[in-house]
This record gives sequence, C-alpha cells and structure tokens, in this order.
Amino acid sequence: MPEERCIVLLKDIFYKKRRYATVQTGQVQEDKPMAKEVPEGLMTKCPKCGTIAYAKELEKNLKVCQGCGHHFLMTAFERIAMLVDEGHFFEYDSGLLSADPLNFPDYMPKLEKDMEKSGLSEAVVTGEGTIKGYPAVIAVMDSRFRMGSMGSVVGEKIARAIEQAIEKQYPFILFSASGGARMQEGVLSLMQMAKTSAALAKLSAAGGLYISVMTNPTTGGVSASFASLGDYNFAEPGALIGFAGRRIIEQTIRQELPEDFQTAEFLLKKGQLDKVIPRKELRDTLAKILDMHTVRRAN
Ligand SMILES: [Zn+2]
Repeated sequence: MPEERCIVLLKDIFYKKRRYATVQTGQVQEDKPMAKEVPEGLMTKCPKCGTIAYAKELEKNLKVCQGCGHHFLMTAFERIAMLVDEGHFFEYDSGLLSADPLNFPDYMPKLEKDMEKSGLSEAVVTGEGTIKGYPAVIAVMDSRFRMGSMGSVVGEKIARAIEQAIEKQYPFILFSASGGARMQEGVLSLMQMAKTSAALAKLSAAGGLYISVMTNPTTGGVSASFASLGDYNFAEPGALIGFAGRRIIEQTIRQELPEDFQTAEFLLKKGQLDKVIPRKELRDTLAKILDMHTVRRAN
C-alpha cells in the first residue's frame, strides 16, 4: 500500500471528520456566498429555491419543499408508506435477482453496490396493499437503483404484478421513476417494453383498471411503454417525462425547445396527461378513483 494512502487511513481511524453541508436560510442569492454551516443529514436544502428545512420536517411534509413546492425524490418504501394503509402491504417477488446474460463488464459489482446503497434487490418493488381500505396491486420504481432502469427483473416483476391484478381483480397502480432501458442487458431490456405492454393489454381486456403515476424522472423505454399506458395517466408536479433527451431532439429538429419542455405541466397542456397531482393529494385522489371503480352489488 502506498505510504500516502496509509496515512489517510490512519487519519480516518483517529480523526472522524464530521461532514457538513453549507446552507442558508431563505432564498439563494447568487452573488452572496452561503453563510451558515449545518450538519449534513440534519437539514436539507431545496435544490430549486434554496429553502432549508429540518430533514424530519421535510419528511413529515412528504418530502415537498415548504418554500416552492419542489418534490424531492422518494424511495420506493417511503412511497409505499405514504400511500398504503399502515401494515397493509404484502411484497411480491422480493427474491428475484438480475443475472448478467451478456457478461457485461462490471455489471454484477454495480448491482451489488446499488443493493447495498438502496437496501433493495432491484429497481422496482411490487406487491399488494390497501389504500383507504381499497385493495390494489402496486408497483413502485426506485431511481436510486441503477437509475431505475428497466432490466429483465424489473419487467418480469411488473408483468407478474399485472398478472396478480388480473387474477385477483384488483386495480393496478404503478409509480414510475426511471432513466429508461438498462444498457447492460441490451435487447433483453428492450423486450421488457413489449412484455409489460402485453400484460397491460391482457389486464385491459379483462376489464381491469390501471393507474399510472409518473414521478421524476420517467424517461426512455419506460415512458414509451407501461408508464404511458394507464387508463389514467397522472404525474407529480415538475416531473421530467420524455423519451429522448432535450439536446438530442434540439440537434435533430434544429429548433430550440420551450423552457418547460418535457415537464409534467407541459405534457398536461398538450393533452398527454390527465392530471398533475401534488403529492399531498395523491392518496386521497387515488382512493376516490378506486372507490369510483368499485363494483357494488345489491344484496
Ligand atoms: Zn424549494
């Protein structure tokens, strides 16, 4: 081991450096450097307006900035906890793990790293639960795991969840958050677009209800398949939703695109979404829709 590295390690043992993030109260002023220093993890700074909040307060506010309404990233299990009735979630297929069919360099170590970092086995969590008493099959993607990319396991878990929804005659609700196809699985990843779409067609033919909620970001093959196929297509405010990136489109069509291009609000204006729903209203809105679609038979 080089001498310099040794010294660094010894220093780490004897002196545990506290990690600080520089934050400031109120609005960010570009010409003024940020003043106060607050321990990282305790406070969170909004990347949009610069408002700082106690991390716990932010969590209580469903990770929505009090200053500007910016919706922070949510992990799959935070989302499930926000959505379903307490203690009413049963996870499916948690043991399904990705293989490395193409022997893609460094794919396995990257998967292991993401597992450790996120505590998840893949980029989607599926299962069933109740929302204000209404049962539903739920799939929630997590962008911390390989950018929420759609590999074979993501596609398989979603297809299996849809099959459960058909069998149990439950509505299917999916929260997407994805960078698109998983390049390490090549064409096998792209095949998941067809597989999940075919499963949704079966659900539709069986009279099943599918609600898609697009969260930031929903891009690439995911936006071009299951995320856009809902009977209801919803999104969270400010979510980036699109197939190709802004720069690629600008270079191809040789035109400048509007500032709000590929945001949830832009898509709503163009008729590609049914509603943009603030996170605080999601549970109530979904419960209302589930209620509306519940068949009640007279005794
Ligand atoms: Zn903010």
